[in-house]
Amino acid sequence: MSEETPTPGVSLDTIASLCKRRGFIFQSSEIYGGFESTWDYGPLGVELKRNIKQAWWKAMVQDRDDIVGLDSSILMSPKVWEASGHLSNFGDSLVECKSCQRRFREDELSHHKAVGDIESAAGACPECGGELSEPRQFKTMFKTFVGPVEEEAAVAYLRPETAQGIFVNFDNVLNSTRKKLPFGIAQQGKSFRNEITTGNFIFRTREFEQMEMEYFVKPGTDEEWYQYWRQERLNWFIRLGVRPERLRLREHEAEELSHYSSGTSDIEYFFPMGWAELEGIAKRTDFDLKAHAAASGKRLDYFDEESGEHIVPYVVEPALGVDRCVLVFLLDAYEEEEVRGEQRTLLRLHPALAPVKIAVLPLSRKDTLAPTARTVYELLRPRYMTQFDDAQSIGRRYRRQDEIGTPLCVTVDFDTLEDEAVTIRERDSMEQVRVPIAGLLDAISERLPDVG
Ligand code: ATP
Repeated sequence: MSEETPTPGVSLDTIASLCKRRGFIFQSSEIYGGFESTWDYGPLGVELKRNIKQAWWKAMVQDRDDIVGLDSSILMSPKVWEASGHLSNFGDSLVECKSCQRRFREDELSHHKAVGDIESAAGACPECGGELSEPRQFKTMFKTFVGPVEEEAAVAYLRPETAQGIFVNFDNVLNSTRKKLPFGIAQQGKSFRNEITTGNFIFRTREFEQMEMEYFVKPGTDEEWYQYWRQERLNWFIRLGVRPERLRLREHEAEELSHYSSGTSDIEYFFPMGWAELEGIAKRTDFDLKAHAAASGKRLDYFDEESGEHIVPYVVEPALGVDRCVLVFLLDAYEEEEVRGEQRTLLRLHPALAPVKIAVLPLSRKDTLAPTARTVYELLRPRYMTQFDDAQSIGRRYRRQDEIGTPLCVTVDFDTLEDEAVTIRERDSMEQVRVPIAGLLDAISERLPDVG
């Protein structure tokens, strides 16, 4: 981490156009002109997103004894949102420009938070300099109706965070797993917020996916766990290859804190539009469990065998947006370099995240190479996400694989028919080594450790 301003990386437009061209991300409902900053993940994007979710799940659940998973529903009793404080508190303060009618979040104007190029002195419209209206409260939860009648009694909300599904299942998880404090419950899934301003590609959207973990601890130990999770989560990004100089931790000012928080830090990334939140780590105190216990009349506490007392645990929460994470890994991996007078674009994605791990490339389309190339493909495919590509020149095929971040290419050429060996080419170094087909799986697993 560094306090100096890093050199800006690739622009959002360049990444968005690569995403469309190669099939990572498409504008939703594009044939109808698009719809309200919604995005669809294409064949490569869905792989990248799944790999990111899998890497998080592995680090948070699979590799640990103290965290279990959950998958709760998006629609919940409206009483959940009443008790959690979301119905009365969850919203943003909105100001409108009296001249151009554009709408802004008040906190983004006054805190100079990075939201595109919206940075202005409070009071004047950052777009046209016009006068701004008085702020009014805007509720950001999506409302819908459950059942055939659209009446107040049938009102339900799309969840604006996955965390409440965890709190209301606290007792179920505790009783079924017999976990001891400290322990956590992790969840991934869609959340919805009727944001006032969206944009910057997939940075802020109204439908998005989250990865959240509620870590329940003994009261009085939350500060220590808060520090632990700040560091642990930062390290996760660095382990997966994000440049440390484009990451920083920022502690919230008191007036920025959410209604449930006694302290929050953001892991910020240096996006093309400046430093902005990637993940939030919050101390949620015992606010949520207490609020749900009071509203439901159910006991939501933990029996501490040591002290013989019932205690309400405190909570530390790392909360991250999957889509924002996809954007960071793409931006951070993007590089352009010159190789023998030609420009090469590559995504230096961590192999665990790369959508395609290996491309099998027969040197020519001639029938003589096809059966062997297919055999090599069939050998690798059950173990690794593998592509077979025999169209166009070998140089162009390498460039294409570089641009989608494929760590290894395996080339089958005419010598293969004689020596039963193939060439492995590495994305980053472009180094090539010849290996016998009989030893190919070993050679690959050496180069792609922990990748399946
Ligand atoms: P902001 O103040 O920017 O609206 P927040 O602090 O309310 O965000 P959290 O409630 O802490 O956000 O959400 C946790 C994470 O979920 C964020 O760090 C971000 O990665 C992701 N996230 C939140 N809102 C959105 C959104 N509208 N689009 C995409 N990702 C989002």
